[in-house]
Amino acid sequence: MFCYHCQEAKKNLVCDKTGICGKKENISSLQDLLMFSLKGLAFYSIKADEFDLLTLKTHRFIAKALFSMVTNVNFSPADFVDLIDEAIRRRNTLREQFLQAYQQHNEQAFLADLPEEAEWQYDAIDETVFTDKGATIGVEKDSETLDEDVHALQECLLYAVKGLGSLAVHNLAVANEETTQYQFIQQALNFTLNKDNTLDQVLAMNLRSGELGLAAMQKLEQANCKQFGHPEPTTVHLDTWDNPGILVTGHDLQDIEDLLEQTAETGVDVYTHGEAISAHAYPALKKYFNLVANYGGAWQSQKTEFPKFNGPVLITTNSIQQPKKTYQDKLFSTGMVGWPNVPHIADRKPEQRKDFSTIINCALNSDAPTPLTEGQVVTGFGTKTLNELLSKISAAIKANKIKRIIVIAGTDGRHKERRYYTELAESLADDILIMTAGDIKFRFHQHDFAQIDGIPRFFDVGQSNDFSIIIGFLQDLQSNLGLNALNDLPVSFQIAWYEQKTILMMLSLFALGFKNIRVGPTLPPFFTPNILTLLAEKFALKGIDSVENDIEMMLNGEIEPKKEELASEPNE
Ligand code: SF4
Repeated sequence: MFCYHCQEAKKNLVCDKTGICGKKENISSLQDLLMFSLKGLAFYSIKADEFDLLTLKTHRFIAKALFSMVTNVNFSPADFVDLIDEAIRRRNTLREQFLQAYQQHNEQAFLADLPEEAEWQYDAIDETVFTDKGATIGVEKDSETLDEDVHALQECLLYAVKGLGSLAVHNLAVANEETTQYQFIQQALNFTLNKDNTLDQVLAMNLRSGELGLAAMQKLEQANCKQFGHPEPTTVHLDTWDNPGILVTGHDLQDIEDLLEQTAETGVDVYTHGEAISAHAYPALKKYFNLVANYGGAWQSQKTEFPKFNGPVLITTNSIQQPKKTYQDKLFSTGMVGWPNVPHIADRKPEQRKDFSTIINCALNSDAPTPLTEGQVVTGFGTKTLNELLSKISAAIKANKIKRIIVIAGTDGRHKERRYYTELAESLADDILIMTAGDIKFRFHQHDFAQIDGIPRFFDVGQSNDFSIIIGFLQDLQSNLGLNALNDLPVSFQIAWYEQKTILMMLSLFALGFKNIRVGPTLPPFFTPNILTLLAEKFALKGIDSVENDIEMMLNGEIEPKKEELASEPNE
């Protein structure tokens, strides 16, 4: 086992025996084989596309399979066996179709030099066969044939592509598809089969993935607004009510709407957990009286919070952890999420709502949630609201009443060093505006940030996918302030990374040319010292320091990091 694709890799190096996330060696091997199989499928899909042989089904399959490998999404060996089998069958079909179309060309020459990913076949659809094969490939194997810096950036690209896959699936859930996104995903997978890629080429592919990641987030935001209305600043209660409830986590707003529609007037309340809190801000969802509150904090608190909820929990898109016995029988997955023996709610049939009757029946036989906390928070500063505030914010910046905007976005996690983000947000002076997206906000969103001249000091725009709302606002602000470049804005970025979608946040900032981005609480373990030096030179990428030092630097002019300091970022 060799996995270092999230922020919780052991000692910020690698999970080599079992994953901190709960990923066992067999799942790691199966995921490696799935990635291997998808590269082989992409090898033919790129070629088949030239002959118009590619169907939307293959595009969607590749996106879903990539999403299944995002950290904390799926831990079910049976699901990965099915996905690998489907990838190979799709690859073989495309290969046949392509070779038929290619007959007039030099087929023998083409077949003479194929990568293993394009040729591997199995004898049986069997978990052991697949696991054994998976153990012979993967990250370490790839590193044997590549320059270590090229390999590091290629791994980064593959993680970005997993993030792109998840965004494509989120878009699909609200009937919004982009072939450009699908095509790039396959180009990127196919690109990694080439053993002669240069560092410049791999960096360019990473930047392109950042560009397309941002575009996918923007498309998703537009589709969500079209489907559920423009989010509005909304007070979300954190207390509990007397009815039994269903707790829903993840990003899928369509699932939440289907659940609300089916629970309305049943006496079952719906609570959000983690990033699902953003649902409270959408007019088409907040109109349901039984969407009552948010329960608990970010994803990593689930083992202590889910048992106290008493009712069933629905995990829609990600962030599942090994269930404890205290709530195992009340956990349900759907979409690409999977855990062995956790009941899975099947996909919706065309033109129908997803059938949540099983989970509703479970709720009807459950007690009401045990109170966790009280109070309220405000979420839902979407594009429309920010546009309405644009001139006011612009005027306050010109009048020096707002000195800086600090973006603290990304995902929460277990590392104790993440206290940095709480201390940072709460230490910022009264003339600093804070913008956030993702669930890192659970570390500080209950703090009273007050206002600056009637402008809220704290803007929660929504999920990690809504990061594009912040970027769109900053682009409008640049133009409103008459600044020549985005880097002339008084803005600093703090990206709390955890998994592959937060990698896309970082790459999208690189693609836009933003500088002075802090990534923490640790820098990605897959970056080599040379890559960190390269990123420091090109984008002034930094790790985090003490809150005091970082605030000082952010407010008084950023200083380029000493390259040797960044390159020797200590591993925990
Ligand atoms: S996803 Fe993260 S925690 Fe899980 S095995 Fe990989 S590096 Fe470790």
